[in-house]
Amino acid sequence: MNTLIKETTSEQDVQQLVEDQRKYFNSNTTRSVEFRLEQLKKFRNLIKTHEDDLHEAIYKDFGKSKYDNQLTEIFPLYEELDIAIKNARRWVKHRKVKTNLMNQPAKSYLVPEPLGVSLVIGAWNFPYNLSLVPVVGSMVAGNTTILKPSELAAETSRAMAKLINENFDASYLHVVEGGIPETTALLAQRFDKIFFTGSPQVGKIVNKAAAPNLTNVTLELGGKNPALFTKDASIDVGVKRMIWAKFLNSGQLCLAPDYVLVHKSIKSKVLERIVHEIKKHNYSVENQNFVRIINERNFDRVVSLIDPEKVHFGGKANRSERIIEPTVLNNVTLEDDVMRDEIFGPIIPVVEYETIDEAFEIIKSFEKPLAAYLFSNNNKIKDRFLSEIPFGSGGINDAVMQINNSNLPFGGVGNSGMGRYHGKYSFECFSHFKAILDKSNFFESDLKYYGHSDRQMKLIKKLS
Ligand code: NAD
Repeated sequence: MNTLIKETTSEQDVQQLVEDQRKYFNSNTTRSVEFRLEQLKKFRNLIKTHEDDLHEAIYKDFGKSKYDNQLTEIFPLYEELDIAIKNARRWVKHRKVKTNLMNQPAKSYLVPEPLGVSLVIGAWNFPYNLSLVPVVGSMVAGNTTILKPSELAAETSRAMAKLINENFDASYLHVVEGGIPETTALLAQRFDKIFFTGSPQVGKIVNKAAAPNLTNVTLELGGKNPALFTKDASIDVGVKRMIWAKFLNSGQLCLAPDYVLVHKSIKSKVLERIVHEIKKHNYSVENQNFVRIINERNFDRVVSLIDPEKVHFGGKANRSERIIEPTVLNNVTLEDDVMRDEIFGPIIPVVEYETIDEAFEIIKSFEKPLAAYLFSNNNKIKDRFLSEIPFGSGGINDAVMQINNSNLPFGGVGNSGMGRYHGKYSFECFSHFKAILDKSNFFESDLKYYGHSDRQMKLIKKLS
């Protein structure tokens, strides 16, 4: 392998890096499953030996504790690595499909093939998970990869750059650090795959940049995720699960319930349980493990969404520490600022409804969300929820935990994204499947050839 890359990222450097990676990809080295496994195992060992550095960096970025980091970033990363290592040999095999009568005698199958040079652009809120899990997908599928982590989580970006750039050849796997100028320089290059995690606004910029090269794009974006409580919901356990999902990472989670829709008849009970859970689990400013808001710009944005007139619980914030108290807003209407965009912070607006049709209408008045959650014991409503509401992934009587099952693909729809990954879906996300008809020379029917006899016509009619 040749290593050309310095630690600078001028446009020429980026161009050279992509050229090096393309040359390396074209050498066919990454197509070997042995090579893929060797690199994945090496990657796993590196994470294992550098866990403490990774914990330290994320704590410096936004006060995320070792416990939270292990649970929500490192553990899912190991799981994805282990699934990839365990299944790579099986995944790279040809996938047989049936052959129709017209094409007999023949075999039909799909041949998975790596796309080529991948660009992965990560978000800051789960910086290891959202940057490195897609990288695992790119590696197991046999691509070369450039990772651009978010500059907003600067320490974790540096930690990933150090870990990867000191241990992998740049022609195979490399981290380019930086913000908009560096990302713009990267997006000006020709990639075979771009995997982006972030906001719908920037997702559009990425998609536009990919268009001239018709690059295959996966967009993992966000939206306003509803948590709908029907009048027969199991309130205690439902609120407990919903509250955990809401305040994980201080609400800076693309899958977090954004707002709560609650039937009028149970609203006071739901509000009471929300406050009970917040107090019981010490989701508070005093809790040293409560994650900070990533920066002052986001702090100011989230605080501006708190209408003092509607605060039912919480509402306090400390700018120098970048902490916002878990805050419950009551009597919220769709006209309130907090209902305009994705909140991405520790505020729960509670909106009441009278009929289920009204609740569904409210959900559908927003762009298709990344997730939707239903807390209900009513099977008819459950069926309607699943068949009438569009969203990326979801939970029935739970929230966020669907991401913890690698057998379920993760991704959005419409404004919340396109494409999906995790587990075998990550392999598929970074692969193309060549569709092959493999014909036997044993026999050839004359059906398709010129002749147009009555016998041919009769046969075609029979087959039609
Ligand atoms: P963002 O869109 O601001 O940034 C994401 C990445 O894009 C970063 O690496 C950043 O450097 C780059 N970027 C920013 N502006 C750019 C520009 N003008 N041109 C080119 N690149 C640019 O998003 P964020 O603030 O990091 O994350 C918050 C958003 O991401 C929320 O909407 C959230 O829902 C979404 N999100 C989605 C997922 C998911 O998996 N679906 C996960 C986390 C976050």
